[in-house]
Amino acid sequence: MRRISIAIDGPAASGKSTAARMLAERLGYIYIDTGAMYRAIALKALRTGTPLDAVEALTALADRTELRILGTRPAADGTSLCHLEMDGEDVSEEIRTPAVTHAVSPVSAISGVRRALVRQQRAMAAAGGVVMDGRDIGTVVLPRAELKVFLQADLKERIRRRRAELANRGIFLDEEEVRRQIEERDYLDSHRADSPLRPAPDAVVLDTTRLTVEEVLARLLALAREKGAEVPDAL
Ligand code: C5P
Repeated sequence: MRRISIAIDGPAASGKSTAARMLAERLGYIYIDTGAMYRAIALKALRTGTPLDAVEALTALADRTELRILGTRPAADGTSLCHLEMDGEDVSEEIRTPAVTHAVSPVSAISGVRRALVRQQRAMAAAGGVVMDGRDIGTVVLPRAELKVFLQADLKERIRRRRAELANRGIFLDEEEVRRQIEERDYLDSHRADSPLRPAPDAVVLDTTRLTVEEVLARLLALAREKGAEVPDAL
């Protein structure tokens, strides 16, 4: 059975994680949420009081942090998320707090941090049969992935999705606040010098604004099949 590598990139709240997780589940592949890894480093920076612009300290911190992705696990809000351990501690939920979301872009812009995490991401994907989502998967981490998809959606729709997701977790933010957060993160992620957010030249760009999750999944399965992946029948 042919097991390919699939890279899914896109801006904040474009629906990457949900789509990537469901695609991996359906194909029987490993799902790797690389955003979760950057979030873990940002969480550790906050916990240790490391300034978010301390390049050397944050690089050293990333180098000596042990990250393990153990598949997916149920979240408190009834959805499912990437199960991530940082130095042996399950931080899957804590990395989703607004404080970490706010701290992550400056931390992920540091080349030393990226070097440490990209090395681990490539090792996790070495055997194929992987769906990896992030910002630079198709351009930097897995430039030879058989399938590259860049997901996007209108800002208004992304704000709506993020607010619904936060509300599900008991966090209620107004539209303006969420707009500001998403715009700031996208600006920082796409304007950094190292591995900026952008579609790979050979990526399929998919606009999910008017698509349901099931429709996005169906498109991704069709693309995976075109690239030679064996798609098992739905249960
Ligand atoms: O995907 P998610 O929103 O959880 O990503 C959190 C942050 O991690 C992004 O805003 C970005 O700063 C960083 N990131 C990155 N490269 C990746 C994945 C995430 O720089 N491959």
